[in-house]
Amino acid sequence: MKKIILTGDRPTGNLHLGHYVGSLKNRVKLQNEGDYDEMYVFIADTQALTDNFNNPKKIRDNIIEVAIDYLSVGLDPSKVTFFIQSTISPLCELTMYYMNLVTLARLERNPTVKQEIKQKEFGSSIPVGFLNYPISQTADITAFEATIIPVGDDQLPMIEQAREIVRSFNNIYGETLVEPKAIIPDAEVCRRLPGTDGKAKMSKSLGNCIYLKDDSETVKKKVMSMYTDPNHIRVEDPGDTKNNTVFIYLEALSTDEHFKKYLPEYNNLNELKAHYEKGGLGDVKVKKFLYNVIEDILNPIREKRNYYEENTDLVYKILEEGSSKALAKANETLKKVKKSMLIDYFD
Ligand code: ATP
Ligand code: MG
Repeated sequence: MKKIILTGDRPTGNLHLGHYVGSLKNRVKLQNEGDYDEMYVFIADTQALTDNFNNPKKIRDNIIEVAIDYLSVGLDPSKVTFFIQSTISPLCELTMYYMNLVTLARLERNPTVKQEIKQKEFGSSIPVGFLNYPISQTADITAFEATIIPVGDDQLPMIEQAREIVRSFNNIYGETLVEPKAIIPDAEVCRRLPGTDGKAKMSKSLGNCIYLKDDSETVKKKVMSMYTDPNHIRVEDPGDTKNNTVFIYLEALSTDEHFKKYLPEYNNLNELKAHYEKGGLGDVKVKKFLYNVIEDILNPIREKRNYYEENTDLVYKILEEGSSKALAKANETLKKVKKSMLIDYFD
């Protein structure tokens, strides 16, 4: 079986550290290892419109932003096909056919969707398109016969839904679609990075993000005002590192090299944690270290970003070429699907 990697992001804002540790890092790693047949990364504008249908300009403006974020973290157009979701019309057709295979009750049970409905305060006015997005995501995955999906853990229910649809389709219409598998980060803290406000998930729609695009001054301000342990008031107080967002970020981002470079009095994170837990280590010192670690990660990304910001024509060209290649592939799958469903009347 071919190894096909696919992932996407919603153009609802710039990409942030949650994306970086949850998914982007894995994508770049997989890309550089080169052990795959095809790799696709796409901008999910159709999906973003399901809950931003009244703000099309926001979605349009963020296409280029997300594309530049991709290129800046090191995704490489010579290895990856980039495309924009709405340009691939076979995805709509596939969605339509898959809708027959899923019940309303099943969609309403999806824990991520449930949480998002609450967060977006839809009440009883849930747009049909929004509730339907896990099905449209199945179309994205299956159209490219993707086998590997590197994502954060909020996406696991979506991949499960996709697997169910694939099995159901193949059962009814005969072996046609390929079952995907999610890849989540090994480190648990990276699977769902909390926000700078300590909320469970760093997320564009919650406004608690450190963006890959943020400048040094902004990062400093965000880190310095981050949530720590509310009971760690004086330096000598023993502190908690488990529910402490600063330590969670260090767990996700720092390496022993960072300690050598910026905090040589400790060999590693365990030693720093032990000191904080015992008492005698102030928040400011830990936050300054975290700031340096983040800067170390963001500096090379910013440098590449500068280049692509000056060359947006090139970025649009990459998206256009990728989209046209992706369209051809999706059309092939649609053809197979229609044949299996006996709706290939004129072939
Ligand atoms: P929105 O608020 O618009 O939904 P988002 O910040 O949740 O935006 P998405 O575009 O929905 O970002 O997510 C894209 C990918 O990044 C998904 O694979 C998701 O699992 C991953 N991801 C997003 N936020 C985090 C996070 N805080 N930690 C780990 N992975 C994340
Ligand atoms: Mg999301």
